[in-house]
Amino acid sequence: MERTRAKKSLGQNFLVDGNIVSRIIDAAQLNADDAVLEIGPGRGALTSRLSASSGCVVAVERDRDLLPVLHEKLAEVENVEIVHGDILRIDIRGLLSERRPGRWKVVANLPYNISSQILFAFLECRSLISRMVLMLQKEVGDRLVAGPGCRDYGILTVLCANYFDIERVCLVKPTSFRPVPKVESAVLRFRVLQSPRVDVGDEDLFRKVVKAAFGQRRKTLANCLKSLSLVAGEAVIETALERAGIDGKRRGETLSLVEFAGLTREIRALL
Ligand code: SAM
Repeated sequence: MERTRAKKSLGQNFLVDGNIVSRIIDAAQLNADDAVLEIGPGRGALTSRLSASSGCVVAVERDRDLLPVLHEKLAEVENVEIVHGDILRIDIRGLLSERRPGRWKVVANLPYNISSQILFAFLECRSLISRMVLMLQKEVGDRLVAGPGCRDYGILTVLCANYFDIERVCLVKPTSFRPVPKVESAVLRFRVLQSPRVDVGDEDLFRKVVKAAFGQRRKTLANCLKSLSLVAGEAVIETALERAGIDGKRRGETLSLVEFAGLTREIRALL
């Protein structure tokens, strides 16, 4: 079959390194009872190995041109369902729970241009997932494991830290892909925690507080939190900061997860 040209707009850098495929499959620790969701199967570099190691695979691919390639490659395989769709628009909860109850594993070499959005989407439906093994741009991986005060520490770091245990499995050189990307990559393993690491009191408010705190990195925390005015006025924020023992002159990126949680609970208590 004629090969389709890789589409940059869809983050298409196909994995051609069998060793990295094996590292990803090993990190997922699959067994015959596992149901796996693959995001962006591409030309199927991971898909057939996933199908051989698990009970079933649902693979969501946005590029219609790749569907015949996948169907041909997986013609002999019975436990893979290819779904044509955009992972950011699909009802992920419906997709998974309609097919199989229980928790799924997510395995993917992500399209890098939307990897943060995909992570936010999976934070929302983490109750349906036990673990994820994801290939990401190295910089995004660095952000996910950064500590307070580091340049890489951000919204995604704080939100993910509360719900996942994250470890880096390996770094991946650009030459492991075709076409060869300009950036380095990393494989990360996310284990979904049984319960959040800290009690934030109100998850929706927690997300808003974290987003506001990182809104403008050069501003003080107190100034950044003014953008929460529709939820909590200045007086509430001031009192909450005081009660949480946090100096409003600090920058948002210096707050630990525990401090963000404490601040959220204090704001909640004052509303
Ligand atoms: N898994 C393949 C591999 O490792 O060779 C392909 C990985 S490639 C980095 C990313 C894949 O995600 C591409 O096949 C691309 O078409 C697909 N993709 C891009 N955006 C998507 C979206 N919003 N929903 C589902 N798939 C998407």
